Parts: sequence; C-alpha cells; structure tokens
Amino acid sequence: MNAARISPAPEPPVPAASPRASGGAYVEVVFDIPLAAAYSYKTDEKGEAAPGKRAMVPFGKRDIMGYIVAKHDSPPAGLESGKIRAVRRVVDREPVFDEDNVALARWMAAYYLCGQGEALAAMIPSGRRTGSFSSFSGEELTPEKPELSAEQREALEGITAMAGQAVPAAARSGEAGAARPAARSGETGTAMAYLYGITGSGKTEVFLRAAEKILEAGKTVIYLVPEISLTHQTAEVIGRRFGSAAATLHSGMTGSERLGEWMRVRRGEAGIVVGPRSAVFAPLKRLGLIIIDEEHDGSYKSGNTPRYHARQIAMRRSSLEGALLLMGSATPSAEAWKLMNDGAIRRFNLSRRLSGGKPPEIVPVSLAETSGCLSAELKEEIRKTAQMGRQTILFLNRRGFAYFYQCRSCGYELTCKHCSVSLTYHKSRGRALCHYCGYQTKPPAACPKCGSLDAGFRGFGTELIEEEVTSAFPGLRVRRADADTTAKKGSLAEILGRFRAGEIDILLGTQMVAKGLNFPGVRLVGVVFADTGLQLPDFRAAERTFSLIVQVAGRAGRYFPDGKVIVQSLRLSDPAIRKACALDIEGFFAAELRQRSAQGFPPYSRLIRFTVRSRSEEKADRAAAVLAALARPLLPPDAELFGPAECPVGLKAGSYRRHILLRGKRMGPLHRAASLLLERYGREKEAGVYVEADVDPVDLL
Ligand code: ADP
Ligand code: ZN
Ligand code: ZN
Repeated sequence: MNAARISPAPEPPVPAASPRASGGAYVEVVFDIPLAAAYSYKTDEKGEAAPGKRAMVPFGKRDIMGYIVAKHDSPPAGLESGKIRAVRRVVDREPVFDEDNVALARWMAAYYLCGQGEALAAMIPSGRRTGSFSSFSGEELTPEKPELSAEQREALEGITAMAGQAVPAAARSGEAGAARPAARSGETGTAMAYLYGITGSGKTEVFLRAAEKILEAGKTVIYLVPEISLTHQTAEVIGRRFGSAAATLHSGMTGSERLGEWMRVRRGEAGIVVGPRSAVFAPLKRLGLIIIDEEHDGSYKSGNTPRYHARQIAMRRSSLEGALLLMGSATPSAEAWKLMNDGAIRRFNLSRRLSGGKPPEIVPVSLAETSGCLSAELKEEIRKTAQMGRQTILFLNRRGFAYFYQCRSCGYELTCKHCSVSLTYHKSRGRALCHYCGYQTKPPAACPKCGSLDAGFRGFGTELIEEEVTSAFPGLRVRRADADTTAKKGSLAEILGRFRAGEIDILLGTQMVAKGLNFPGVRLVGVVFADTGLQLPDFRAAERTFSLIVQVAGRAGRYFPDGKVIVQSLRLSDPAIRKACALDIEGFFAAELRQRSAQGFPPYSRLIRFTVRSRSEEKADRAAAVLAALARPLLPPDAELFGPAECPVGLKAGSYRRHILLRGKRMGPLHRAASLLLERYGREKEAGVYVEADVDPVDLL
C-alpha cells in the first residue's frame, strides 16, 4: 500500500464527474492509492493525454503518476475550468491499457475493496519504457510430443469439448431460463475443469495439448504457474512448443522487460502467455483458455493490496470472455475439492505415472528418540541411495540454523525488537535474525533476563541440517537452496541445474525444492520435520501441511518404481500427517471438509478481514475497536464478527497489528457491509493508522 508516501493534499484535486463524451480536452485519472474516485485534469499542451496512457500529474504539492481512464470535451459539470490543473507530462507514447483492463480494474476495486488505480497498478507492468526481452526465439521448435495415454486422451477430449462450448457472459444472458450445462457453476456461469492427478501423471502434457487446440481454433491462452522455480521450467517447455507465439510475464524480469512483453501481447503478437499470478491480467483478446497449474499453490494469492487471488480473477475473466478455466493439481485446494464434489467443476482423473515411476513408499518416522535432526532410518536411506548412485532431496520449511532461543531457568524467549516473533540463529553469519523485518543482533551468551547459562537456541533450520548432513556424509556433495543461498539472481537456477546434471548428491532446502520440480535421478525424499506448519493458529494449517508433504513426496520415484519418502515428525498421530503418508487424498478432504463445515470456515463460509496497523499501540487498539463497533450494526443476519483482536503476529516491523474478521454465508451481503464499513470508518480515521482489507484471506496471521 502506497498511501503512506502521499501527503494529504492541501489543495485537493477536483473529483471527476461521470464519464461522458470522449475526444476532448479533459481527462480522468486514477492513482495507485486507496481512493475510490477518479480526478479531472486538463490535457497537456501537446494533447498527448489519452485513455490508456500513464501520466505525471500534480497532486497536492507534488507530481505523481496516474492512469488516464477517460477523456471529455468539456469540464466536469459544476466545475470551473480555471480550477482544474493540467497534466504535466504523458509517460506512454501509445496506450498500455484499454477499456477491458479498466472494466476489470473497476470490478477488482469493488471485489477487493481497493482503489481502481491500485487495481490497475497490480495489472500493468511498472516499466516506464518498453524493454526488449528475448524470452523465446522463433526457431528451434522441437515438438517432442509423447503419445498420450488413454486417460490423457480422454481428459483432453473432454476439456476441448468444454472449451468449445464456453460462451461469453454477454452471449449467455439470453439463455436465462434454459438448462445450463452441468459443469458450470450457478453463481458465476464459468466453465471449469480440473485435472486431478498424482504428481508425475502427465498433467503438463494435457495442458500443452489443450493449449495447442485452443490456438489452432484462433483463440488465446493464459498458462499460470506458481512463483519461483516452476515459472522457468514451464516457460522453457512452452517456449520450445510454441516459439515466438509465447510470451512470459514473471517477476524475475525488470519492469521494462515485462512492459515489453505486455505490449507484444497487446499488439496480438503472442497467443499464449505463461507466468505466475499477475499473468492472469495478460491483455489477450479472444481468450479461450486459462490454465492454473498447481492450483493449490499459495503464491496465487497476492500478499499486498489488492490482495487478489489469481483463481478469482481467472473465474471472472473466463466468465466474461467465454473461456474455459482449467485447473490442475495432485492436491487441490479445499475450495476446488468442494466445487468438484458439488459438480460445479468437472473433474478429469489421471491415476498413473507415465515415465516408469510409481507412487513412492512413504514411511513416517518419529523424531522423539533422535538427538539431532536425522533419524537412523533417514541416514540409512541416504546411504543406500548414494550407493545406488541416485539422489536425495531433504526438505524443511525453515531456514537458518536454529529456530528459537529460550532460557530453561526463567522461560525467557528471545524475540525481535520490532516484531512479536522469535529470532532465528544464523550460524554462518554469527547473528540472530528476524525473518519478518531483518532485524539482527548478536546471540546472547547467557539469558539476558536472569543471566542463566542454561539458555540457548533450539529447534532447527536448513543451516543446521546442512551441517549435520555434511558431517554424517563427508563423501557426498551437499547443496542448500533457501532464501539465504539463492538471494542472487540466477543462483537457484544454477543449483537446480547442477542437481539435474547429477553434480549434487543431496539437495536440501525450503519450499524451493518442493514445488513441481521434475528430477529423474531422485530416489529419496526426506521431510525433515513435517510439523512446522501445524503449529500455526490458522484453519488452513492442516490443509497446507498435508498438501506440502504430498507434493514433496511426489519428487521421489518419478522415473523408477523404487521411490522412497521418509517423513519425520513428533506428531505421527496427527490426521494431516497420517493421511499424507498414506497418500489418502480422498480421506483427508472428506475429514477436513467435515471439520470446516462444522466450524463454519471456508469453503462453507466467506471471510473478509480488516487489519489495522500503527506505530502506536494505543491507536491500533482504538482503531480496531472503532472498526468493530461500526461493523456490528452493518452485519447481514447470517454473518458474524470476530474481534477486535491482536493478530497472531501482533507486532511486525515496528507496527502494532490488530484485526477484525467478518464471516458470512454469502459474499454479496458481506461485501456490502464491508464497503459501508470502510466508508464510515474513513470519516473517523486517525492519522498514523492504516487499515487494509483482505477479501477471502488465505491466512489469518
Ligand atoms: P505432472 O505435471 O502430472 O506432475 P508431468 O507433466 O511432469 O506430471 O509428467 C511427468 C513425466 O511424464 C514427464 O517427464 C513427462 O514428459 C512424462 N509424460 C507425460 N505424458 C507422457 C506420455 N503420454 N507418455 C510418456 N511420458 C509422458
Ligand atoms: Zn533466564
Ligand atoms: Zn522483526
């Protein structure tokens, strides 16, 4: 949120009136700030200002960049033209967005309770000049296509047929009373399909073939992949298949590189766009298909305002533009699972591994008897795997050396000065670090509170595992991949490349080694400590833990039928861990959905969360109390209010955090209450307090 950077305008710009004729001398501009309104300006002297371009305009005492969304002949009704200020400078030579983008931004602003300009800013690459980016060369198309299996063929046929029947919302309105095709959700009218298949069952090949069919039919395709490693892997495959018809939009590119690709797509020079979350906004016309690979992945939800979910935007675009929404995963989200059960999403199953592998044997092992972080069983399997000349992946979702510092005499815990979280010991740097704000300090020699020497860091991170593995297996080549070792651009790709080439025996790391990677040489996967996510106070903790274990396990035995997975835990009786080890996906979701339903959590309800933050604890408390008091009378009858309460991370980077949560059966009425709440709160807002809305939050930390 950029609101903090903008000082209050002493001489407020003039709010724009309703849009009217175009072609004239006045423009309406929206900004990347939480403002609902558009503001009017006179066009610049050269007359370059036009809808779709970005421009620098005076706002209060300064010039800021805005998005021109409309143009008019006459000044807005009721305003003297003398009071209207002029555009200073137009940024773009040709428009970078159009009415469709503006319409989508308007919808996003309403849905995600943000400003229209904030929505546009999330959509449009931030580059000022369009840079060239040679993502894919036109030559060297190597269509190394395998013969589809019977299951793949059946799925492809079903998917292609559904895509052929999908119609834009405008064309659908006439069919009101008519029978709807079964696989269309009543609420949105979106045609949705799901490729549900174990890891390694050939989902990617089906996605690629479906994309080919859509392109052959003269339509276009968006192909979404999770952030980080998978983006590059899939982008490469797509580049080989589709050559210069493909474009990439990912966060590893500079703003101007992304803008260059965006403009290429806008000009119709690319028919398929691959990328993470934000690629869902790709300005394609004649959209026929949106693919969401690894649909369950957390990176599809934005961590900043507007906190949009790519799946939600994809549903909106599919419905409006008559495209098919095709998702896929071995571990669908609970939301998708329920929609499949309800028949709103049509499911296609892929049940077998296609390149010689089998689902791995998964062995749960208790860590209770182990002093370090490697159980005897895990060490034995590492040894065996190395003897076979094969590779091991060790996964732990915690970087650093040791996790928390505690005094055994007085119970003191070393937490960050600016955040209410434990500091992590990073041995290589000799520092205790905060993973939220970067604060660091020297690890204390004795308890800072009582002076006891019986105090120290406990729990373990990737750095500690690296040390244990290296000393237990001095002959093996070990590499660590986590945020600390891959900070430099290209270093993760380097590590993964060397692992693939067999130059590394043991790859250990965080999520980075868990997501969708496909390494033929891997026999063994060790989940070093499966319980990390279970401790979080979040109703999705079980779902996340389950899906992570199944996904990591899926890296083993993709090409040989002897894959093995060791899952180490202190909570072997926990249902999420037990069912993940049994690969009992149906069983897990049946129980999990029963529990969600009983507790009234999504997908059986909808949530809107408001987070308050302030440097002053008193102000944060007061603002949360005001929000709650204002919210109560606005709630629809079937809705509830939770809070005000301190967030689980109550202090973050020096800001105190409080929240309230609105929960209701249906989003419509909940939404109306939330917008009214923001409007009323806006009138009482104190300086130095920031309120952020999160519609459909994925975590409550
Ligand atoms: P998923 O996306 O379901 O995890 P992948 O798409 O990575 O699985 O496929 C796993 C492996 O199977 C890949 O190496 C892929 O090339 C291969 N594969 C896919 N389809 C076929 C097929 N029809 N015949 C043989 N191999 C296939
Ligand atoms: Zn102490
Ligand atoms: Zn901190």
